[in-house]
Amino acid sequence: MPIFSDCSSTPDSDAATMQRKNLSAQALLSGYMSEASEQRYCRKGAALYPSTDPNKICACGSHSQRPISLRKNGFDVVRCPDCGAGRTLVDQFDPADHYSEGYFTGEVEGAYLDYRGSETTLRHEFRDQVDFLARHAPNGGKLLEIGCAYGFFLQEAKLHFDVYGVEMARAAVDFCHQAGLGQVQQGAITEDYLRRHGPFDAIVMLDVIEHIDAVADTASLLVTYLSPNGVILVTTGDWSSIGARLTGAKWRLMTPPLHLWFFTPKSLSLMFGNLGLRTTHLSHPWKTVPFELVLSQGLSMLGIRWRPSLPASLQKAGIPANMFDAMRMVFRKPD
Ligand SMILES: [Zn+2]
Repeated sequence: MPIFSDCSSTPDSDAATMQRKNLSAQALLSGYMSEASEQRYCRKGAALYPSTDPNKICACGSHSQRPISLRKNGFDVVRCPDCGAGRTLVDQFDPADHYSEGYFTGEVEGAYLDYRGSETTLRHEFRDQVDFLARHAPNGGKLLEIGCAYGFFLQEAKLHFDVYGVEMARAAVDFCHQAGLGQVQQGAITEDYLRRHGPFDAIVMLDVIEHIDAVADTASLLVTYLSPNGVILVTTGDWSSIGARLTGAKWRLMTPPLHLWFFTPKSLSLMFGNLGLRTTHLSHPWKTVPFELVLSQGLSMLGIRWRPSLPASLQKAGIPANMFDAMRMVFRKPD
């Protein structure tokens, strides 16, 4: 399908052609190209390209200059003066390079040490998350999880919802299919998937939104396929928290380029507010977390890189943890 097909009457120019090529590359890098976003970009006419580059435009929609806040792992992180969100400046980001099975097995620094081995603890945590979500979406319906990993959340959620998911890591998707989650698809979210299975009554992103490059465009696409009165549940770090401010570049969630965004409550409220959604919940809840993850993140904030070699029973044990630097937010679409 030609990009900007409904712009055929617009006079062309070298600059416009360049803009289209850049946009196309950007959209492919972000993992999808949707008709909805094509049309939206088209309507912006000459201001097309800058308005779609997350290195230049904040997720909140601000065009303000963002000064460099810190540098880590060879990447600059800039901060938006209007909403406080951080953005890792990346020339090129291909999710497929980062989110393979190794992301869940300790081969990627800053990622999970042994996701599958922590199933019991994770499912306990996800059960609480489902109970919470069910209070915001008591009628159930269709639920979509972006980045569903091995399907542990969906297994809990299917007691209340008709569940769907997308996941980048092939091995995790195979695991989901073998476990009976047949609607899980490998890859980034696509408009084709949303059109075939949507609209959804609940869309869930658990510690995922900070990984999405063109996050405002992705959010726009998701909102298009969210039912009236539907909700989006997001968990992510809070860069405006005291813990994040005190620890700076050593913050446990400051892991560029894996984390491309560092959100604040204001930034997410603005981003979803721009799309017509209302913020209906904000909290910094306690979580049940694998002990080894708490330990390795705590040590990394002290500058110590260590791969725990603890007795298996201790590694996988879940402990309640709260550093008040991670938030849970719910956004609701009007009726
Ligand atoms: Zn901003």
